[in-house]
Amino acid sequence: MGVSGLLGRIKQFRERRNPVADESEVDEHRGSDAVVGPPSDVRPVPADIAGSVAAAQARLDQCEAQGYDRVWVPPHVGACLMCKALIENRVFRIEELRDAFNDGGDPNNWAPAVPLHPGCRHSVLPYVKSIYDRAQADYQVLEDQGLTDDVLNEMFESSGQVKPEYKDDPRLRAYLDQVVGTDDAD
Ligand SMILES: [Zn+2]
Repeated sequence: MGVSGLLGRIKQFRERRNPVADESEVDEHRGSDAVVGPPSDVRPVPADIAGSVAAAQARLDQCEAQGYDRVWVPPHVGACLMCKALIENRVFRIEELRDAFNDGGDPNNWAPAVPLHPGCRHSVLPYVKSIYDRAQADYQVLEDQGLTDDVLNEMFESSGQVKPEYKDDPRLRAYLDQVVGTDDAD
């Protein structure tokens, strides 16, 4: 895998909703046409999150139908502090997120939910331990190199390309040096 591929993978890992799906068994579990409405026997879902709540619930249903009992929430660049605290990188039993949503109010009272809030871009992946562990290890290397969300936002164009002035950034180099040799998937 070349440097550009690895750089792309950093970006993928940080930003894609589905950072590992194209190289894992998760991929074959995608693509169901199943559609469900928002939970109807509980509090009404606020209109500003109804669509994303319905999509998230459908995704949970897909995961469950495929035999998974747990999911996790991949991180993305620019995630808010509440998402980082309550859902990002956490593993949940599917029933913990079933019918869960926050209808505004004091964030101190929010419970874990996907989406957590209007405009939340988080989603879930089926929890597969080996994939999750690898993603967390990658994430830790990024953090260890000081490649925080803000830094990565600055380094990459919105298109996903690393900006020319950062191509030789020592933090990226150090990350690549650590990842090369431990990455046997590509
Ligand atoms: Zn979020």
